[in-house]
Amino acid sequence: MKPRQYKHAIHHSGAGGEAPTYFECPACGYLSADPRFGGGEIVCPVCGAAPDDRRTFPPERLRRLDSRIRTYERDGESEIAAILVATFLETLLEDILDRIMETRGADAEIRAAVLDGQRAIGQRISRLFPTLTGEQFEDVAEQLGFRDFPHRWRQLRASRNSFIHDAPYSGAQETLDANVAREAMVLLDQAYKLFVLINNQFVADPKRGERLAHD
Ligand SMILES: [Zn+2]
Repeated sequence: MKPRQYKHAIHHSGAGGEAPTYFECPACGYLSADPRFGGGEIVCPVCGAAPDDRRTFPPERLRRLDSRIRTYERDGESEIAAILVATFLETLLEDILDRIMETRGADAEIRAAVLDGQRAIGQRISRLFPTLTGEQFEDVAEQLGFRDFPHRWRQLRASRNSFIHDAPYSGAQETLDANVAREAMVLLDQAYKLFVLINNQFVADPKRGERLAHD
């Protein structure tokens, strides 16, 4: 059991101003922005768990990183902001893959081994995600209202990679300028929403709590 976090934290983030706050049912993994859910007023609509011990998402480590990224972007540190967002999105993807595997009953060792065996981000999206969910990432994103996200994310990765590696074959990216950084911030805000929707489709499961309890 992870330590209890804020039961009362209700943040209404301004547009793009800070990381959003969601609340998580520790039993089934369901995520909701509903303050009544976060405030412990209603039971979990997915698994019926009692309304206590709700955790917050994103966790504090990601919230701090998010805050630093936004500061870099505001300060005109476009390169750092874009590179960090690209890394951040890869962390979110790893988290969701880990959570999907957990729901499906994989223990921590198996999850670590699978993720270690698929380090490349492209393979995680094109192979691991479909293996675990039965659907292509692009199709899921489209169904959930984020059709352009996979393509734009791919472009951000390409910009980052060509900036860092100076890859001549992908067209030299001299700078990660303010436009790239702004685009990265849009993707960051979208990524939270998409993460939560994917989570609620493939992770939140009444049986998840039973499985974890029997570990
Ligand atoms: Zn629940």
